[in-house]
Amino acid sequence: MKLHILGTAASEGYPAIFCTCSHCQKARQLGGKNIRTRTSAIIDHTLKIDFPPDTLHHVLRDDLDLTKIQHLLFTHTHHDHFYPEDLNMRLPGYAHGVQYPFHIYGNDAVLAKLSQSLKKQNDHVQFHLLRPFSTYQIDDAEVTPLLADHNQIETCLLFHIKKGNTALLYGHDTGCFPDETWNWLETNAKIDIALLDCTNGNLPEYRNHMNVNAVIETKNRLQENSILFDHSKVYVTHFSHNIGLLHEDLIKIFQPHNIDVAYDGLVIET
Ligand SMILES: [Zn+2]
Ligand SMILES: [Zn+2]
Ligand SMILES: [Zn+2]
Repeated sequence: MKLHILGTAASEGYPAIFCTCSHCQKARQLGGKNIRTRTSAIIDHTLKIDFPPDTLHHVLRDDLDLTKIQHLLFTHTHHDHFYPEDLNMRLPGYAHGVQYPFHIYGNDAVLAKLSQSLKKQNDHVQFHLLRPFSTYQIDDAEVTPLLADHNQIETCLLFHIKKGNTALLYGHDTGCFPDETWNWLETNAKIDIALLDCTNGNLPEYRNHMNVNAVIETKNRLQENSILFDHSKVYVTHFSHNIGLLHEDLIKIFQPHNIDVAYDGLVIET
């Protein structure tokens, strides 16, 4: 599996789009891995997770060819993951060389909002409703949506994706995993690569988004239940500027726990 991480910030970006706080100023000065955009990832060039408002920036920065994307999975409808208006840019006149079919997968809120945002000419796009804990065969990947604890009025999802010999847990905007998700993981899952939500850094809040302690507890529980292999890699991502931690600060916090810190443009290959 080739997992290309496109963005690693929380919804406002880091530095944040309108912010002059000291953390954002420091991130701007240092640049490099301290520059974080809104989240998305691509698996093996053809399967994309989420479609944030920074997608054009990702295309230009990492020289992406989005015409290869055949399958687009959505975690939920918060704007940092879901900017459907730009999907209209696949239409004739805006784009040439676009390939079909194009499949979009998400919860009912995702599909309802997409049907409002996509122009009628997009009738070649095929929608697929995702139900938590059902497994979907998407080309040669087995995708299982799991429940997050992120927003009480939407069924926000994380994904277990098995492809070839590699299993990925894609956990953005999860909060601490609900019991049903732990039950599924403890019964069914092995994980080679885990991405975990660390939006809140060292701040005390851990509902809706995890903080450092919640990430470490989650990793330990995955390990204690033999869901992780010895070779498995765990990454933290989706950082808010409010945590005031730069890339090097995050590495110092997580290195003793054998957890890596994701950054924009990171490619993980297994
Ligand atoms: Zn988010
Ligand atoms: Zn700021
Ligand atoms: Zn969210």
